[in-house]
Amino acid sequence: MAKEKKGVRLEHISKIYKDPKSGKDFYAVQDTNLEIEPGSFVTLLGPSGCGKTTTLRMIAGFESPDEGEIYLGGEPINALTPNKRDTAMVFQSYALLPHYNIFDNVAYGLKLRKMDPEVIKSKVADILALVGLEGMENRMTNQLSGGQQQRVALARALVIEPGVLLFDEPLSNLDAKLRVSMRTEIRRIQQEAGITAVYVTHDQSEAMAISDKVIIMNKGVVEQVATPHEAYYYPKNKFVADFIGEANFIEATVVAQDMVQVDGVNLKCTTGTLSTGSRCDIVLRPEGAFLADEGDLSGLVEYSCFMGAYQDYHVRVGHNLVKIQEYNPKNKKIYNVGDKVFLNFEENTLYAL
Ligand code: ATP
Repeated sequence: MAKEKKGVRLEHISKIYKDPKSGKDFYAVQDTNLEIEPGSFVTLLGPSGCGKTTTLRMIAGFESPDEGEIYLGGEPINALTPNKRDTAMVFQSYALLPHYNIFDNVAYGLKLRKMDPEVIKSKVADILALVGLEGMENRMTNQLSGGQQQRVALARALVIEPGVLLFDEPLSNLDAKLRVSMRTEIRRIQQEAGITAVYVTHDQSEAMAISDKVIIMNKGVVEQVATPHEAYYYPKNKFVADFIGEANFIEATVVAQDMVQVDGVNLKCTTGTLSTGSRCDIVLRPEGAFLADEGDLSGLVEYSCFMGAYQDYHVRVGHNLVKIQEYNPKNKKIYNVGDKVFLNFEENTLYAL
């Protein structure tokens, strides 16, 4: 549906704001380099205030960078106003025209471009079918549910066939269940439209569910760009490991290539470029270990709770408190607080930083 899938490139982009409290300048975004492939779905992810929205708004042209250059489809765009950029934005607040019907909301951008009314009619009908609002042209937007309003907002953005679609926390105003179904819808629509999408969220499960790549930001800096799988299993640092899913960090020493030692016990662990003898932290996901009467590392159960899908444990191992989730507890031996246990690790789950 898009005229042309366009990539986005950020080269050494910085944005400086004045902190209203201290009056001092600070980097909301600092020296950011990004390459977003044409047709891909990427998500800017990170805690509140890390610079996600500022980055998105600089791509849209609502903010201008203080340093660096942004390219769209290989062309520099810093000097272009938002309406001259080949982008469209879907906002958290939907930004619909309340006293207009769906047709007029969706057709708005096409009318501004002075398109032939018959062409507009057919384009609007096509887009409404794509977003699941087929035949609803005459409904007033103030009579729609939140999810339907979000679909109209998406249709409005898509109908002008932008090279890149930008999303600023588009699902924040929806309830939890609808968020989950709408994110699947957004991904389907993006793939069917074959459009490049840049999406802002602070919800890591949302980012994991819809993205080809996640861009994890912290304090104005990009920490890692990776597929959700890479970010989960091979986080670049403790911040990423902690932000994407849950992580335990266990202090260890590298004793050989792909071997670490914890409390005198050798464990198989991916060590990457870490050198023998160096101190490291092992990243252990809660589902990456299980408890047994014998095994790799001894510990003491300090917490044990049935959660339905899994049994939740906290196990004291030396001075580390390790959180374990054992799935399908009905078929497993359950340990209680005070039990002496051994942690056993699933194949290929330990990863050292
Ligand atoms: P959130 O998830 O809360 O929306 P974010 O990651 O999108 O956060 P930004 O909105 O990009 O963060 O803001 C980055 C930093 O810049 C924050 O500290 C914010 O307070 C600050 N900031 C944003 N806009 C301005 C502005 N116009 N003037 C001054 N400071 C600003």
